[in-house]
Amino acid sequence: MNYPKFILNDKFEPQENDLILLIFINDKERLFLDSKPLEKIDIIAPKEPGGSTTLFRGSLYDKKNCMVRACRLDKKHSSPHEAIKEVISKHIDISKDEDIKRIVVLIAPEREPQWIKSIAEGAILGGYRYDDYLSKKPELPSIVCIYDKKLNKEEKEAIANAQKGFHWVNAARDLLNAPPVAINPHSLSKKFQELGKKAGLKVTVWDEKRIRREKMNGLLAVGSGSNYPPRLVIGEYRPKGAKKHLVLVGKGVTFDTGGYCLKPSEAQIGMKFDMAGAAACFCAACAICEIGIPIRVTVIAPLCENAISSTAYKTTDIIVMRNGKSVEVDNTDAEGRLILADALDLALEKDPDWLIDMATLTGACVVALGDDIAGLMGQDDDLISSIKSSGEGVGELFWELPLHMPYTEKLKSDIADTKNAGKRWGGAITGALFLKRFVPDDVAWVHADIAGPGVKEEPLGHLGKGSKGFGIKTLIELARRLID
Ligand code: MN
Ligand code: ZN
Repeated sequence: MNYPKFILNDKFEPQENDLILLIFINDKERLFLDSKPLEKIDIIAPKEPGGSTTLFRGSLYDKKNCMVRACRLDKKHSSPHEAIKEVISKHIDISKDEDIKRIVVLIAPEREPQWIKSIAEGAILGGYRYDDYLSKKPELPSIVCIYDKKLNKEEKEAIANAQKGFHWVNAARDLLNAPPVAINPHSLSKKFQELGKKAGLKVTVWDEKRIRREKMNGLLAVGSGSNYPPRLVIGEYRPKGAKKHLVLVGKGVTFDTGGYCLKPSEAQIGMKFDMAGAAACFCAACAICEIGIPIRVTVIAPLCENAISSTAYKTTDIIVMRNGKSVEVDNTDAEGRLILADALDLALEKDPDWLIDMATLTGACVVALGDDIAGLMGQDDDLISSIKSSGEGVGELFWELPLHMPYTEKLKSDIADTKNAGKRWGGAITGALFLKRFVPDDVAWVHADIAGPGVKEEPLGHLGKGSKGFGIKTLIELARRLID
């Protein structure tokens, strides 16, 4: 993992090879104050919304060689905060070609400290690089935010906590970007143990024997084709005095070939991200624990690899699940719901006040909402709207799809209680309806299908290529809102 250093300073002293960014919210409104070293420069906003203009390049002050650039935020973005994150990440990308050592952003003291968080996010998440396998690691500039105002204790803490959260997003991205040769159920469970230890989470790992004793036959079936047997990871955070209990269940298929319903080769690209739900839930729990949000959190991550061999589960198999329901397998590529169903059944024993599962579950959800937006389906309207608004607040998008009960018909089987995949149309909803069979009506449960942003390879806003660590920022924000 590599990302730029973020530094908060109250004094502005240009250094050699600085890029100084002067941010305009629109053509008139400035985010910065004029300051002494910039006296010589004629500061004007770029004409185009979203544009940027180089105002100065050369010896600025004390013979320091600097570049000064004006950037305007008012384009396509719903919020100028999303725009500034993108401005920072764009300038990190070009810093090498322009020989920039530091990117300096000036913020006027009367502006709220929220801007500092956004700049930190642009730096830490926007500048993240997965470089574990590169023999030459990329050099990154540091990001310096100049804010000439004394912050109070709460403001300082909020900024420090935001940075902790971003770090956990990058930790998840490292797990996801790692190649399948490095990540299997066993190695991932070890990594979760290490990460949990750092955060202060209590972590328990079940091996295949324990999983068998627990009758988690869905997880065993999906994992039965791989030489790496399944694991189940439980992470627990129990702060003193916490009254409410949030239980997170994350899909952890370390690689999804589709099994005997083999994916075409192109569709296999990106399937190392099929554990995005597990990584998001686990790293969010680590962040909530490290930040110390006073809510009890349990995370359950079923881990397996969906592979092919003579022992792999097959189409038309029947699995008797942990809760006793039988499932006819009509598609071995609809494997996520099988491991989640057993994990949800286990989650019920933890007595949750809120139960959320997060999974790269269906291509149908990506067809419905595209790859920027995750789907939400469930049986608790308050929880759905809390997740949606938490996501909006941190720049992650969720949208509700109906849990339309009549579609349960599509899952009908003659020889078992249900099929796992069923008919094609409305696949995101039937995926959720399958899970619904394992969750009683009175549980505040929501299923988040993150197959779009969880698997997206192309850049998304300020987030570059590869994993986005989608969902973690939302879950941290949600935890905060649930205790209010
Ligand atoms: Mn699949
Ligand atoms: Zn899958």
